[in-house]
Amino acid sequence: MNAIKEAFKTVSDLWSLMVGLKVTGKYFLEPQRTVRYPWKAVANLDTFKGHLELVGGVKDIFTPRCISCGMCALACPSNCITVVKRKAPKPTPEEEKALAEAKAKGEKPKDKTPKDPERFLYDYSLCSLCGTCMENCPVGALRFSKNVYMAGYSRNDFQFDLVLKLRESEAHAPKAEPAAPAAETSEA
Ligand code: SF4
Ligand code: SF4
Repeated sequence: MNAIKEAFKTVSDLWSLMVGLKVTGKYFLEPQRTVRYPWKAVANLDTFKGHLELVGGVKDIFTPRCISCGMCALACPSNCITVVKRKAPKPTPEEEKALAEAKAKGEKPKDKTPKDPERFLYDYSLCSLCGTCMENCPVGALRFSKNVYMAGYSRNDFQFDLVLKLRESEAHAPKAEPAAPAAETSEA
C-alpha cells in the first residue's frame, strides 16, 4: 500500500514540476520586461504612473495652469494635497483711488490676483495614484509624472511643492538653439 502511495506522490510531484517548467519556459522565451537597474535605464514608460506633477500653462510652460480652485484637494481620498492660494497684491495709490471710485458707484472691483497657486503641497508617501484628483480638475492641470527614479531616506523626501518642482524643471529643460544670423543681402 505504501509503495502505491509513494508512486502517486512521485507522479504528482513530477506533474507539478512539469507545470512549473511550462510557465518558466513560456516567460523565458518572451521579451524581457524588467531592466537591471541602475545599470540599465528604463526605456518604456508609456504605462508608468509616477508621482503627481502640475501641467504648465500655454504661454509659460513653467507656470502652472492650475487656477487654485481646490477641487483636487477636496476629491483626494488620502488628503495628499494642500493648495495655497496667492494673496491679492497690495494696490498702488492709483488702484486704491480707482477701487474707492468703483465702490462709490456700487461696482464690483475686478480681482487681479493671479489664479495660479502660491504653493501646491503634495504628499507622495500617502498617494495611492488613484487619479481622482486629475478626474476632478476642471482645467487638466495635473498628470502623473514619468519619474521612475524617485528615492529617499525619509518620508519628508516624498513631501514636496509641485509649483517649485515645475519651476525647477525649467533649469533642466533643453535650451532653444539661438537663431542663425540672417544671410546678408547685397543691393544692386
Ligand atoms: S492620485 Fe489619488 S491619492 Fe494621489 S493625490 Fe490624487 S486623489 Fe489623492
Ligand atoms: S490642480 Fe486643478 S483641481 Fe487642483 S486646484 Fe488646480 S485647477 Fe483646481
